[in-house]
Amino acid sequence: MDFTIPEDTQEIINALKQFIEKVVIPLEEENHDLLYNERNYYLEDGRRHPKVEELRKIVRMESAKAGFYTMLGDKELGGEQLGPITALLVAEAINKFYPNRKLIDQVIIPSPFTNGLTPVLRGLKPSLKEKYLPKIASAEETLCFGLTEPDAGSDVWGIRTKAVRDGDEWVINGTKQWISNAPYANYCMLFAITNPELHAQRKGGISCFFVETKSEGFTVDSVIATMGSLGGDAAIITIDNLRVPHENVIGEVDHGFTKAIHGINNGRLGMSGKCIGSAQWALKKAVEYAQIRKTFGKPIAEHQMIQNMIAECAMDIYAARNMALHCAWKIENSKKTPAKEISMVKAYCTEMVGRVYDKAIQIHGGMGLSNELELEAGYRMARLMRIPDGTSEIHRRTVARSLLKGDLTFS
Ligand SMILES: Cc1cc2nc3c(=O)[nH]c(=O)nc-3n(C[C@H](O)[C@H](O)[C@H](O)COP(=O)(O)OP(=O)(O)OC[C@H]3O[C@@H](n4cnc5c(N)ncnc54)[C@H](O)[C@@H]3O)c2cc1C
Repeated sequence: MDFTIPEDTQEIINALKQFIEKVVIPLEEENHDLLYNERNYYLEDGRRHPKVEELRKIVRMESAKAGFYTMLGDKELGGEQLGPITALLVAEAINKFYPNRKLIDQVIIPSPFTNGLTPVLRGLKPSLKEKYLPKIASAEETLCFGLTEPDAGSDVWGIRTKAVRDGDEWVINGTKQWISNAPYANYCMLFAITNPELHAQRKGGISCFFVETKSEGFTVDSVIATMGSLGGDAAIITIDNLRVPHENVIGEVDHGFTKAIHGINNGRLGMSGKCIGSAQWALKKAVEYAQIRKTFGKPIAEHQMIQNMIAECAMDIYAARNMALHCAWKIENSKKTPAKEISMVKAYCTEMVGRVYDKAIQIHGGMGLSNELELEAGYRMARLMRIPDGTSEIHRRTVARSLLKGDLTFS
């Protein structure tokens, strides 16, 4: 078995670090007060300040020029499609060296299936690909993924948004909730019921529409301020008699979920990589602090209970990292999607990062709670990770169902 990081991947990681150091960090430093004071970062209504959006756009577009923004994107759409092992290791590296930065995560590389050259867009008609993809690939324009609703999260079949055909158009009505990037996106991949009978049987009947967010009938009502922040990235959307041309159906009518599934695995693996990287950053900080902070006449690193916490973090990270790498290898090398393994990895890694941050804060004592050390920002990020892209419970459900159907393999 060879666990060496592939040379190409290592080169990408090195180039990415150089890009961050040369382009992003100076921009962050110049705009520190805007980016790292939430009262400046968000407007009253919870949206990011337009100047923050400008900075994000600058970084996105520079990243696209340098080839990072689209490197994980679908080949068919003009991306490099570098594959799950690279996606995982890149996410790990970014968050191991630069966690909790405002212009890095989800800016340099977009969320794998809800933005950028997401595989969902494979289903766009050729004329629409020609029209929209160039600006999506150059990162001038962004997307959001409109599936969740007030009464439908884990149980996506519970959506109520309806689309009714009217000649060459569809008329859509409904409400969406928790849609990331919705307040800023140019386009939405919007899911709606197109065949109530099929939908009632949970056999289909849901279609995906490519929608311009500036269209009449598409309104971002409010931003959901999330987890200790004055604002957020996700929003509630009202769809009121929104008219969408038939040609904007992504993929086949009534089979929108098959499009949603494309890329979702990369998303889960990317999240796992982020957790693995960020956890390593927190542990490094805890190890360093334990060696300089003294109590009872000696560094706290010499107290066994502190050593215990450090060792437990290391075991957790090692287990998470290796299971994620194995899973990425499995996705890359097998024809069948390893759904059970992806679920185990997403649930484990997102829970592991919470445990590691909790201990890292504990090792820092009062300092761990100060905003200055950014451990609390990581702790909030970690808590958030267990909900989107399938909750921990839904992933356990997938794992258990798979085992109960007879899949007891671990290789
Ligand atoms: C920050 C953030 C960003 C998001 N971005 C997007 C986005 O861009 N686009 C989008 O469409 N959605 C997005 N979502 C929505 C996300 O996918 C849902 O929040 C998630 O699927 C959970 O749904 P819910 O919140 O309705 O919880 P519910 O489904 O109501 O679940 C409530 C609780 O019940 C548990 N539960 C539910 N069913 C079962 C079961 N069968 N067995 C055991 N336990 C169960 C859940 O695990 C949870 O603990 C985002 C969410 C967040 C928090």
